[in-house]
Amino acid sequence: MRRTRVRFAPSPTGPLHMGGVRTALYNYLFAKQHGGDFIIRIEDTDSHRFVPGAEQYIIEALNWCGIIPDEGVDENGQVVSAPSARHPHAPYRQSERRAIYRAYAEQLVAAGWAYYAFDSAEELGAKRSEAEAAGQTFIYNQVSRLQLRNSLTLPAEEVSRLLEETSDWTIRFKMPEDRVVAMDDLIRGHIEVNTATLDDKVLWKRADELPTYHLANIVDDHLMEISEVIRGEEWLPSLPLHYLLYEAFGWTDTMPRFAHLSLLLKPDGKGKLSKRDGDRLGFPVFPLRWVNEAGEVSRGYREDGYFPEAFVNMLAFLGWNPGGERELYTIDELAEVFSLERVIKSGARFNAEKAKWFNKEYLRMKPDEQLADLLVPVLEEHGISLPKDYLVRAVGIVKDRATFVRDLFDAAPYLYSAPKEFVEKDVAKFWKEENYPLALEAGAYITSFDGPWDKEHIGQALEDYIRSREWPMGKVMNCLRLALAGASSGLGIADILSLIGPKEASARLSYAENTLK
Ligand code: GLU
Repeated sequence: MRRTRVRFAPSPTGPLHMGGVRTALYNYLFAKQHGGDFIIRIEDTDSHRFVPGAEQYIIEALNWCGIIPDEGVDENGQVVSAPSARHPHAPYRQSERRAIYRAYAEQLVAAGWAYYAFDSAEELGAKRSEAEAAGQTFIYNQVSRLQLRNSLTLPAEEVSRLLEETSDWTIRFKMPEDRVVAMDDLIRGHIEVNTATLDDKVLWKRADELPTYHLANIVDDHLMEISEVIRGEEWLPSLPLHYLLYEAFGWTDTMPRFAHLSLLLKPDGKGKLSKRDGDRLGFPVFPLRWVNEAGEVSRGYREDGYFPEAFVNMLAFLGWNPGGERELYTIDELAEVFSLERVIKSGARFNAEKAKWFNKEYLRMKPDEQLADLLVPVLEEHGISLPKDYLVRAVGIVKDRATFVRDLFDAAPYLYSAPKEFVEKDVAKFWKEENYPLALEAGAYITSFDGPWDKEHIGQALEDYIRSREWPMGKVMNCLRLALAGASSGLGIADILSLIGPKEASARLSYAENTLK
């Protein structure tokens, strides 16, 4: 049995879209499920599209998600350059592997699977304009290559001379004529494509002595002994070429199996989920915040307050599910149940509300101790500092109303500091001559209550007191909440009282009495 080795091979052309994170996650889960290796390889041979900081962003994002590679990135988050027992195939950055690719391209020329092309950028540009003017598109393919300047059309001496004397030639794949390439995809099943529809892709460029994506990707997958390629469906059109490259190199026996993942779709299902949808509808499409060179900010799940576990769980379920009702899985549990067979073929529609639901569930599962710690920085922003045991009790009371950590404050700020202002319309509605004196009296009673100071006893005593006097329960309670919390809606009065204690409650009642009269 072949060892499972999969890779995530991003190009550092910008921040990693959440669809890319999902691709990495599925690779990771597949590797863990099969007891295999998950490798990160940086595909940075296209220098025009290189974006500074993108590589670090990708690695930091995966790290935040807990998608930790076995090979390719070391403990310090650096892409590994020197081979070692743990990273035998280093370097894992293709720009650092540049010297190896030329020989592979030349090997294909020698075997008749590729050829040298000498057409300059201007010549090709002219061809393109010419075709365009005639309402057509120029394609460098099995038909046009016979009219172009390449080693298939030029005399051998001329070819040797041009190879020596010029430096902007390329090596192109010689697409076989009229052949049906039969392929199998683990998600999409059997696919057949006739080579007549395919062009002669550039494999290697003399100008920068660099391979293109196709050559570097196949050579590295082979050298790194990749067993399955799991990637986005935008690469499906390249699959026939990749199959033929394996054939051309004589590597079909060890060719990886392929799985192409469908796209993440906009919430309405119409088209690919883009950054613009996020901006328009108010959700992040990137794992982490990103600021581009023009200073434009894209929000990130991390900075928006998502827990990485919730983000990962949500992503795993975008296009896959284990069957059954259960939806909450840790990354390790996901690895146990993941299978490519259950990945859906159609696009997966993103649902921002569902993303929030996952976060809310993860927040609820967290121990109050931990939530209290997470809340400290939020309170600091408001200049509030409280003892840990107080915070533990506070989050226990408010957590059911929170989706994000910040909601533990926002949903009930009065748990952490006395209200200084009161919601005007609530005051107008409830703080009435005929009611508030009753509320203040009930308040005075409860703040000197000498039974056990817990929610149940306080609640019961207060209710009994109001009932025994035959006061209007709702009106009195609304006034009390207004005085204690600054608004007439919010958490239960007994909850608030049990937390803040009789002294603080009494101070708030006096403040309300003095301020609202
Ligand atoms: N570098 C390619 C990308 O950016 C990798 C595609 C593949 O996995 O083969 O998506």
